[in-house]
Amino acid sequence: TKWVYSFGDGKAEGEASMRNLLGGKGANLAEMSNLGLPVPPGFTITTEVCTYYYQHGETYPAELAEEVKAALEQVGALTGRRFGDAEKPLLVSVRSGARASMPGMMDTVLNLGLNDATVEALAKDADDERFAYDSYRRFITMYSNVVLGVEHHAFEEALEHYKDGKGFSLDTELTADDWKQLIGTYKKIVRDEHGSDFPQKPEDQLWGAIGAVFSSWMIPRAKKYRELNQIPESWGTAVNVQAMVFGNMGDTSATGVAFTRNPSTGESALYGEFLINAQGEDVVAGIRTPQDITEKARIEAKSDKPSMEKAMPESFAELTRIYGVLEKHYRDMQDMEFTIERGKLWMLQTRNGKRTAKAALRIAVELAGEGLISKDEAILRIEPGALDQLLHPTIDPDAERKVIATGLPASPGAAVGEIVFNSEAAEAAKKAERKCILVRIETSPEDIHGMHAAEGILTTRGGMTSHAAVVARGMGKPCVSGVGSIRIDYKAQTLTVGGVTLKAGEVITVDGSTGQVIQGEVKMLQPELSGDFAALMEWADAVRTMKVRTNADTPADARAARKFGAEGIGLCRTEHMFFEGDRIVAVREMILADDAEGRRAALAKLLPYQRQDFVELFTIMSGLPVTIRLLDPPLHEFLPHTDEEVQEVVAATGVSEDKIRHRTRELSEHNPMLGFRGCRLAIAFPEIAEMQARAIFEAAVQAAKDTGAPVTPEVMVPLVFTRMEFDIVKARIDAMAKAVAEETGASFEYQVGTMIELPRAALKAGEIAETAEFFSFGTNDLTQTALGISRDDAATFLGPYTQKGILAVDPFVSIDREGVGELVKIATERGRAQRPDIKLGICGEHGGDPASIGFCQEVGLDYVSCSPFRVPIARLAAAQAAL
Ligand code: PEP
Ligand code: MG
Repeated sequence: TKWVYSFGDGKAEGEASMRNLLGGKGANLAEMSNLGLPVPPGFTITTEVCTYYYQHGETYPAELAEEVKAALEQVGALTGRRFGDAEKPLLVSVRSGARASMPGMMDTVLNLGLNDATVEALAKDADDERFAYDSYRRFITMYSNVVLGVEHHAFEEALEHYKDGKGFSLDTELTADDWKQLIGTYKKIVRDEHGSDFPQKPEDQLWGAIGAVFSSWMIPRAKKYRELNQIPESWGTAVNVQAMVFGNMGDTSATGVAFTRNPSTGESALYGEFLINAQGEDVVAGIRTPQDITEKARIEAKSDKPSMEKAMPESFAELTRIYGVLEKHYRDMQDMEFTIERGKLWMLQTRNGKRTAKAALRIAVELAGEGLISKDEAILRIEPGALDQLLHPTIDPDAERKVIATGLPASPGAAVGEIVFNSEAAEAAKKAERKCILVRIETSPEDIHGMHAAEGILTTRGGMTSHAAVVARGMGKPCVSGVGSIRIDYKAQTLTVGGVTLKAGEVITVDGSTGQVIQGEVKMLQPELSGDFAALMEWADAVRTMKVRTNADTPADARAARKFGAEGIGLCRTEHMFFEGDRIVAVREMILADDAEGRRAALAKLLPYQRQDFVELFTIMSGLPVTIRLLDPPLHEFLPHTDEEVQEVVAATGVSEDKIRHRTRELSEHNPMLGFRGCRLAIAFPEIAEMQARAIFEAAVQAAKDTGAPVTPEVMVPLVFTRMEFDIVKARIDAMAKAVAEETGASFEYQVGTMIELPRAALKAGEIAETAEFFSFGTNDLTQTALGISRDDAATFLGPYTQKGILAVDPFVSIDREGVGELVKIATERGRAQRPDIKLGICGEHGGDPASIGFCQEVGLDYVSCSPFRVPIARLAAAQAAL
């Protein structure tokens, strides 16, 4: 096995396709070298070494040391330097790089190879003593922190103390001699905290750093990130060792990060930040406020610090040339890191840039427009779930805003919540179902869980590429960063700005699109779905073969869904209509009646409501199919619970309170989800189904008259497990259709079909299809009954199941292909064999889940149906499934 791959000087042993072996960073460094771009020479220790390391008690393969030595010599040869040399010392950076990018999860060591001797050589070589000692003290702090585990603040305090003593306020005021003094102090700190001296031998330093990278693969925050992003532990990380180039060699040196397109908006223009006379992590750390790359961005940001375009025109031209090369080569937006050492530009990294959903959309559509990718590729590039971000509300421009501060618009969208000052509080708030905004001076990888729990994020320090900004964009959470005017007091749990003090628990709104921080809650607007969104959706609609319907119970749902492109209603849960206004009293009256006559009286009150609801649904969905399901109430939801509710029924019916309470007790169930619901109700109380059928058909006649378009209602019977149940209910529906046709003199078409949501129904689908004209898979109940897991109680014990890997994902979120999926397949086959033109759809929650939609395509369903906000996601997922 080859464990080490070299790159540099216009060639490389690896290439971009070797990502699994070299990690993302290593593979792209190799690729950039192969493209002839200026990359400091270096080498990558493969992910297989990481795997070996953990399989062999944290030891290395025998050949590794030799391979590293040889590779290091080659880097030396290319740079004219040698590792540990007292005159021309080679200094290197050591960085981790896994297959998938794990921002901030693992650590970097810069300036490795410096010691008491080489620092002098560096000073001479660079003709800059201050630079050399500044680099050395950075190296000591970084290495001691990352490799030796010495806390950062020990060094910070020493530095602050030193500055106070000298009356300095800025680091730049320190001279070479000052740094020398501090280095002495730093070394003592290492000795005290770590128990031994700071390692002077460059080889020891290198192996220490390599070991630290591999160890960091297993630290809790890396594990947490992998867990949240479904990155397998077995992938491992690679280690990249690369010759140092210095962005801190004076005012002709700089370091920065740039995106080939704007990662927030997708605009096609170089976008990023840089810092003159600074090193690597200074930009990301947000300690100094970076400068803009382009003049245009500088003007927009009203910054008085010169842009790179103005300050370093040659390097800017070179960066512009390189970004063109990289985008054409990778055919995607790139996120690049670069360093300018005394006027010479070096590329340190490129990768496909993280972006907001809005940017992803614009970039995919524009790349297709530029001919760099095809329309199909554009469709495949958007993760359907990410569209959720676009569907999130923004602040109503007319709303009154009490803006208390403004920071950077780091991640778009707006969010409202109570202030929390740490991630634990954010998680606690989420548990208690309270919305919160995580407010921090800055965030670090330890805050990932808190950021997940929060609705939005606010930091007082750090730029557009700070940890908070990058991670929030990835998560699709609104984020305002770098609000320097806000002062946070963690101890007092307050934030203060311009005379306003807000305590933890008080409500604020953050607008990640403008950078505004607003006191209190503001009115939000639903997003506009046009432009790039419409273009991509149009392309998606052209390739998908499954239809996308919506689950809608109210006219408002139906209207929203149509705007999102729903092609009909796949499920109208009529029981949900009964919670509107004071209908519930009539429903209770109906349920609690102890004879058919009592029920009929109550039903008569409900009929006009139902009819009107259906007229509206048919009208909104004019020309599109509408499936209406007969009442399927878990009865307990409808029984009166409070004394007040009992009194309401007493007042409405005139029946005694005793009797009402008695009947309520009679009807209460041990397992309501497996109880008196679905078609069982229609079989016991046919008059309910009759009333609903009447309302449906009368509404169809009415809506057809109103709109001039024919209406073909699909009447759906829930929870059947045998054909006989279906037939009994269908007979009532058919009779009612005939009656309405006679009474109105109108003729209309309709279909009667059933839910397949019990395992027995799936198995007996052939028989059921003899009389049922369509099936809709109710995968919520099918999952509940196939796995024997109560829908309502699953949350308490499913957690350990997914953690232990017994279930890959929550089966109520993403369909259990092997079990529940098998039942769907069987029912599809048997149903189709019996009735070749049977219409097949799905209306469980899985109808809006991209992975499950892929399954529906495989099985060959005609349509999926999902909640209104998931309709665009389903349209895109269905297109991807069809490609
Ligand atoms: C289902 O069971 O999947 C379904 C859509 O019906 P409900 O969720 O109303 O039981
Ligand atoms: Mg169901």
